[in-house]
Amino acid sequence: MTTTANVYQNYIGGKWQSAQSGETFSNHNPATGELLGYFPLSGEVEANTAVEAARAAFDSWRLVPAPKRGEILFRVGELLKQHKEELARTMTQEMGKILKETRGDVQEGIDMAYYMGGEGRRLFGYSVPVELPNKSGVAMRDAIGVVACITPWNFPIAIPTWKMFPALVAGNTVVIKPASDTPLSALRLVEILYEAGLPKGVVNIVFGPGGTVGEALLHHPNVAVISFTGSTESGRHVAVEAAKSLKRVSLEMGGKNAVIVMDDADLDLAVEGILWSAYGTTGQRCTACSRVIVHSAVSKKLTGMLVARIEQLRLGNGLDENVDVGPIINASQLEKIHSYTEIGKAEGATLVTGGEIAREGELARGHFYRPTLFTNVRPTMRLAQEEIFGPTLSFIEVQSLDEAIAVNNATKFGLSSAIYTQDANRVQRATRDITTGILYVNSGTTGAEIQFPFGGTRGTGNGHREAGLAGLDVFTEWKVVYTDYSGKLQKAQIDT
Ligand code: NAP
Repeated sequence: MTTTANVYQNYIGGKWQSAQSGETFSNHNPATGELLGYFPLSGEVEANTAVEAARAAFDSWRLVPAPKRGEILFRVGELLKQHKEELARTMTQEMGKILKETRGDVQEGIDMAYYMGGEGRRLFGYSVPVELPNKSGVAMRDAIGVVACITPWNFPIAIPTWKMFPALVAGNTVVIKPASDTPLSALRLVEILYEAGLPKGVVNIVFGPGGTVGEALLHHPNVAVISFTGSTESGRHVAVEAAKSLKRVSLEMGGKNAVIVMDDADLDLAVEGILWSAYGTTGQRCTACSRVIVHSAVSKKLTGMLVARIEQLRLGNGLDENVDVGPIINASQLEKIHSYTEIGKAEGATLVTGGEIAREGELARGHFYRPTLFTNVRPTMRLAQEEIFGPTLSFIEVQSLDEAIAVNNATKFGLSSAIYTQDANRVQRATRDITTGILYVNSGTTGAEIQFPFGGTRGTGNGHREAGLAGLDVFTEWKVVYTDYSGKLQKAQIDT
């Protein structure tokens, strides 16, 4: 077959390289099926070469003064800003989110570049008083080494920046393996890093399947840290495999996020928040709302208000500014989403709207699913427990705040929750008792800001956080330096 589609390469040690086998995989627009390009079908060989390149670059990059590393990130922020529209369009073509959302994705990268650029002049350690005279103690952050970043397709620029920028400002070097559904956005990001002046080999990008490239990174002895975002299933595997060589592993995984709507809530406000959280990004956000836990006194009214709005949502190609909801990322995910509609019906939940693949007109070219709402969902149903990662929302009725909190907490995930109420006491109780990493009061479940720690509890994470100051902890090792200037042996931790 002859084609004019672009053929892209890995970027390793400052050189563009194909896979040794010469094999490629193709990248398609999920809204239209259009071919966007070919990428190297890399494997263990390319992953290993990239790790070695990153290891070699580490020796000099860690010694570049942190403010200088920060300045490069600042320039990355400037370049991302300059290329924002072009990057957003590429991303929409590659993974389907509507333009407003892909612009937001790039903006998160810009924000992170400025934030971590600033960390180049902070990277605070601390000094505290010591027990003995004529002695000082300072705790400082050290770079760790080669960081492997394994990223998902739903935030193809933002998530790589959340991992790479703190890793880089702290003096680590990087190998990134982006999701196979979104190689192009990640490639553009890496090009921008080099345009900003990053020395060769500091960031290396390798395309190819998780099962080969990803797997090689999990086992390579010179990879010190794995920063992974993706499904809980893949994340668990990453943790188990990486533990064998005692790598540090930071996991950001799935969610089953809930909006609680109490009987005193401003329902108009709640409808806006639910609509955006459940159907924005076609429900393909880790923070997407997939459960509404609603007080029975307002359940019927809220359902009616929401359905009227759901049925007005326009599906289509995200490049069209009039579209509200873009496609599903690929055919297998579309199938998975539809299977949950069948599961929900079989479990006895009531399908109120949606529940089918949208095929009319131009939609037939892509992977589109109608925004879907189920009512009469019980908290233990699979519909209410498992991550669907699509535009499927379940209404669960409760009689009290205590019951709402219990239902909220009773899933294996714990990323984001929201509560709509006008009662300050209820807000305080929810704040105390909800066991998620993020809680919104009178707003939907999405919209985290990069200066705060991001991550979740239970099956969503393994205790680490991304972004904010907490994000630096993943990529730095604490070193404590004691200096004794007494001129004699002074013993600490010994009874004298
Ligand atoms: P995924 O299938 O788990 O893939 C994530 C990444 O892991 C991809 O780069 C994938 O490569 C790679 N991978 C797969 N198997 C691997 C293996 N054996 N070893 C090493 N790497 C492997 O997840 P996804 O479908 O891309 O993303 C959706 C999931 O991400 C959802 O569960 C969502 O909730 C979660 N997510 C979480 C957050 C958060 O911050 N908590 C944010 C965004 C998304 P391939 O693409 O080549 O398969």
